[in-house]
Amino acid sequence: MKNYQIDSKGYYGEFGGALIPYVLSGPINKLAEDYKEILESDSFKKEYEALLKEYVGRPSPLYHAANLSEKYGANIYLKREDLNHTGAHKINNTLGQILLAKQLGKSNVIAETGAGQHGVATATVCAKFGMKCTIFMGALDVKRQAPNVGRIKFLGADVVTVESGGGALTSAVDAALGYWIENPDSYFLIGSAVGPHPYPDMVARLQSIISKELKVQVPRQPDYIIASVGGGSNATGAFYHFFDDEQVKLVAAEAEGKGIETGKHAATLTAGKEGVLHGSRTLVIQDEKGEVVEPYSISSGLDYPGVGPLYAHLLSIGRIEALAIKDDEALNAAKLLSQKEGIIPALESAHALAALEKINFKKDDIVVVNLSGRGDKDMNTYLNYFNY
Ligand SMILES: *Cc1c(COP(=O)(O)O)cnc(C)c1O
Repeated sequence: MKNYQIDSKGYYGEFGGALIPYVLSGPINKLAEDYKEILESDSFKKEYEALLKEYVGRPSPLYHAANLSEKYGANIYLKREDLNHTGAHKINNTLGQILLAKQLGKSNVIAETGAGQHGVATATVCAKFGMKCTIFMGALDVKRQAPNVGRIKFLGADVVTVESGGGALTSAVDAALGYWIENPDSYFLIGSAVGPHPYPDMVARLQSIISKELKVQVPRQPDYIIASVGGGSNATGAFYHFFDDEQVKLVAAEAEGKGIETGKHAATLTAGKEGVLHGSRTLVIQDEKGEVVEPYSISSGLDYPGVGPLYAHLLSIGRIEALAIKDDEALNAAKLLSQKEGIIPALESAHALAALEKINFKKDDIVVVNLSGRGDKDMNTYLNYFNY
């Protein structure tokens, strides 16, 4: 049988691990030793589940999109993570990790953010739990995701604008890692299923609430589950409890930007090669010399040259199908959902919606799209692109 869990060293097959500078081995090893026991303890579960219900508003609904269903000739359902408090799936993870950080006696939280959704979700839980919070964000993202920068600051957190590198998510992660090396007592609240072990597995467990709910909500076993993949956290959440149900086709929609042939893309699963990025062995967009190539996507949340190690593994064993979606395909999918269903999706989620155009469905197919977030933060991009 195929295996979708990490081994004792934090590897999914040949991908993953904790390939980190020596100064971080203390805090990382401690986290790796403690996280499972804490996450599985009754007291953690009780507090986490109560907060998911009363603070986040879970369970998120599963919505039958009748107009999309008619258009695509299948039964299309949307898992409404966009309705969560703070507007995306990110809060499922930040809430879990802040409880863990509290348990570990931490009071200084740092995080990276791209689209700013993870920054907002982290600043939110830090406000609630009275923790000091610093968010690292690339200069380009500070500009293109301005509404979220304002929200992060208003929630009482500091934003560090990272000028080095390409000014997107990679720069933010590099800067946060740099701060962590200088301040190993701080808690690095990583926002996706990436980074050194135990983060990918920890984030997967915290996001798995999505498919736990989905299993109960869906009228029968789905034929397809489609999710966008940046690092892989919303996809893992949506897929997790279906990995062993081999008839369920799992589709990972990644960002092809302006097209792979232009070199301006973030399609790691389609065009990446094996390498090491941010502490784990995975697929990385790199040149012939093995240097990381600056990725590109109109969607900040998918603008990352790596991918969670679980996805490199799932691709290598053929458990997922990767579909690369171009900027304009995602933008059109966002407009279509807005005007057919009255739901404005995040640009990241729009990549998953655009995958509907590329699959030939049968009339009776049940198709679940994980609607990872809402589109408020992307309104300027939408209005400019469509000349409103
Ligand atoms: C961050 C984000 C993503 C991409 O990150 P994953 O870890 O791959 O889920 C997708 N959708 C939204 C709305 C996001 O905020």
